[in-house]
Amino acid sequence: MTVTTRFAPSPTGTLHVGNVRTALHCWLLARKHGGRFLLRIDDTDLERSREEHVASIKADLEWLGLPWDGEERQSARFDLYEREFQKLIAAGRVYRCYETAQELDLKRKVLLGRGLPPIYDRAALALTEADHAARAAAGESPHWRFRLDHTAPIEWVDAIRGEQHFEPAKMSDPVVRRADGSWLYLLPSVIDDIAMAVTDVLRGEDHVSNTATQIQMFAALGAQPPRFAHEALLVGTEGKLSKRLGSLGVAALRGEGIEPEALVALLARLGTSDPVEPVAERQVLIDNFDLGHFGRAPARFDEAELHRLNAQIVHRLPFARVAHLLPAGMGEAAWEAIRPNLEHISEAADWWRIVTGPVAAPALEDADRLYLDIAHEIALTIDWSEGPWIQLCNAIKANVPSRKGKALFLPLRQALTGMDHGPDMAALLPLIGRERALERLEAASRSAGAPS
Ligand code: GLU
Repeated sequence: MTVTTRFAPSPTGTLHVGNVRTALHCWLLARKHGGRFLLRIDDTDLERSREEHVASIKADLEWLGLPWDGEERQSARFDLYEREFQKLIAAGRVYRCYETAQELDLKRKVLLGRGLPPIYDRAALALTEADHAARAAAGESPHWRFRLDHTAPIEWVDAIRGEQHFEPAKMSDPVVRRADGSWLYLLPSVIDDIAMAVTDVLRGEDHVSNTATQIQMFAALGAQPPRFAHEALLVGTEGKLSKRLGSLGVAALRGEGIEPEALVALLARLGTSDPVEPVAERQVLIDNFDLGHFGRAPARFDEAELHRLNAQIVHRLPFARVAHLLPAGMGEAAWEAIRPNLEHISEAADWWRIVTGPVAAPALEDADRLYLDIAHEIALTIDWSEGPWIQLCNAIKANVPSRKGKALFLPLRQALTGMDHGPDMAALLPLIGRERALERLEAASRSAGAPS
């Protein structure tokens, strides 16, 4: 069977990094096995679901480079849910209940007060048809619970958590449908996973107990359950899901100059035994992806680490990837010269302005101005067509033996770029070119002295 995963966000908000991580892992798992990655919009909650959130979820997946191979919307599948639900009614696997939230709360408190687990007592199972008719006559509509089969434990081997074991008798029969006919998440998800032939459900560990009940729903609907993997949740550096992390999404990170490759490289490996590395090639991450490498401890998301990784990624991005983001005229050689100095691609424009000029002549000591006057004379004599920086430096060393190391290089850099630091001059000088370089050396040699 083709490995099929699905990412199933509820469009009640934008994606945060935790959701992005799950989406990425589902995508990597599918790609690793040459399978399919599906997007399922879980919009059964018609009131809270918003079209703008659907659009932003898709935009985020596109920006991350996680194309999906198929798409479904739960709101378009209510007929299917109704048909499957009727089968469960016929099989006696769902039943009608009328307890109010307050009544259930009271039952829970009584049980807890007696030191017992707060499990639903199945009182509604005792209702007769006459009772239901009376409720209906009084204008009451039931909500529905799925009746767990208590005869055998629920077991599965989780691809991350290992062997899992649940006693259904110690669990409440989950509510699957509200009194107004609307669906809770559990059952439609199972119906869809069957219909969409999902083979692997990969999601956060907050779903582990849902999985136990859903495994019985698969069986009740006559289907084999998929494989399950539940990953440890993402937490902030302080060890919990902070407010910032809980709302931190692609838009904000993008605004801070984070590249999709950096976010993907971090989230692919965080919480696994594999090192977080500046891997910009997706295939490397795909080949290396293995649920067996995931740990059980929460994965710590550190924004500072993301920014460091981003800089490392930017230093590796090929020209073709960034060309459309660079200022007009900035070519491959310029990108390669400048990228080691960038934290964000947008800063390339600042360095390109330094290449194209004008640059401010630095304020220099008399001795340095004199030196630059000589450097200017020497620059007039060298061959600019090949390796002008090395030639310039060698010629200076030969003619001005008193200038060595920093005393030789720094005034040149200051004159040629207006800066004390920056990209490798050997790469930068050919971009600046003879004419501008001569002008800058001359201007610096004539500039006003350093303020005393
Ligand atoms: N819509 C559910 C959620 O966002 C999907 C969970 C699942 O992957 O089954 O939590």
